[in-house]
Amino acid sequence: MNKITMKNALAELDGDEMTRVLWAVLKEKLLEPFVDLKTEYYDLGLKHRDDTNDKVTHEAAAAIKRLGVGVKCATITSNKARMEEYNLKQLTPSPNAVIRAELDGTVFRKPILLKNIKGTVSCWEKPLILGRHAYGDIYKNCEMYASGPGKAELVFTDAAGKETRKTIAELQGPGILQGIHNTDASVTAFARTCFLYALDEKIDVWFAAKDTISKTYDGRFKEIFQNVFDTEFKQRFADKGIEYFYTLIDDAVARIMQSKGGFLWACKNYDGDVMSDMVASACGSLAMMTSVLVSPSGVYEYEAAHGTVQKHYYRYQKGEKTSTNPCALIFAWTGALTKRAELDGTKELADFARKLEQACLKTIEDGLMTGDLARIAFPAAKKILNSWEFIDAVRDNLTAAL
Ligand code: NAP
Ligand code: MG
Repeated sequence: MNKITMKNALAELDGDEMTRVLWAVLKEKLLEPFVDLKTEYYDLGLKHRDDTNDKVTHEAAAAIKRLGVGVKCATITSNKARMEEYNLKQLTPSPNAVIRAELDGTVFRKPILLKNIKGTVSCWEKPLILGRHAYGDIYKNCEMYASGPGKAELVFTDAAGKETRKTIAELQGPGILQGIHNTDASVTAFARTCFLYALDEKIDVWFAAKDTISKTYDGRFKEIFQNVFDTEFKQRFADKGIEYFYTLIDDAVARIMQSKGGFLWACKNYDGDVMSDMVASACGSLAMMTSVLVSPSGVYEYEAAHGTVQKHYYRYQKGEKTSTNPCALIFAWTGALTKRAELDGTKELADFARKLEQACLKTIEDGLMTGDLARIAFPAAKKILNSWEFIDAVRDNLTAAL
């Protein structure tokens, strides 16, 4: 069989632990036999990030910008425990935070629905899509431990040198301080990307924040969303029969648990971080979720929404063939290949990516699945496979479809 050729390369960002192991297996079994893969490879494994003083992460972000499309494996965010485990020189920032900060934009997470996997929220009939703002807030914070009593202030020095000060607190004893920020430009791009995505998918947009408490910070998010909507999207939404809805974040959470789904929930960075895991796990498994970072400059990074599945990796290291679900990793690749095909006008590549996705779904709907899904499958799984067996089963279905 002739391999499908790629016109242009995409940036490939390898990662850590169990997802790194599966990354290599799925490339070998599901991609390389069929596609003449063109990638620029960046090793974002923790040790290599440490060895390069994190230069590799910045190079990878630049490559995504240059090539327009990237695909990323899950990576460890270093902390003290990891520093000892991997004998690191330093703590490096979260690679996702670094890349998101460089590309700006919004992360869209959409559950992969299956006939035989029952979500835990029975009223969600359609996928609930989450749009997570990917810039600023606590992910670009500045924090400090205040060792004793004193005055904490917020100071802004404008370009002309003029200072504005506000007292945060008069501390009577030790405490903690944090400064966060966002920009009008980034929030505007966030709002615009969400409205464009919703127009494309013909779905409503919900945005929620806590502007009753955070009158200036969250208030500005609310104001910008409303302005962008009123000036650029009101008529286009009306034409498609879709709506924009703002409410307080706690009200949104309560309503969403009783909704039918089928809309885009635009979330501030932290809300999106937390809520996307809740939505994914409610839909079945963290591995049944697609995730793409859409930058306002038209650059796309596809990734798995889950982590490196550390506990499985330790079992794998002891010789166990774990039943880790590779679907989110496979869909990261199919998402990236589909976008590459769209940008390059290579239909054959797009067809391949679609068939690979269908092969995954067929495998699971035929009753062959990993343990995470078997726990919640109805009818019950015919066979619980380990990751290697599952990838082989997907390959059989893929070969048949090609
Ligand atoms: P995790 O990798 O998301 O795994 C948490 C648990 O969720 C697993 O123990 C497993 O549950 C289940 N799970 C997640 N993905 C699964 C899959 N594909 N198949 C089957 N089960 C799956 O989170 P973590 O173990 O708390 O974090 C490990 C590392 O990931 C951390 O160092 C963190 O920094 C990093 N992380 C990276 C990203 C990213 O790069 N996108 C995101 C989050 C976290 P059971 O053990 O019950 O089977
Ligand atoms: Mg998270």
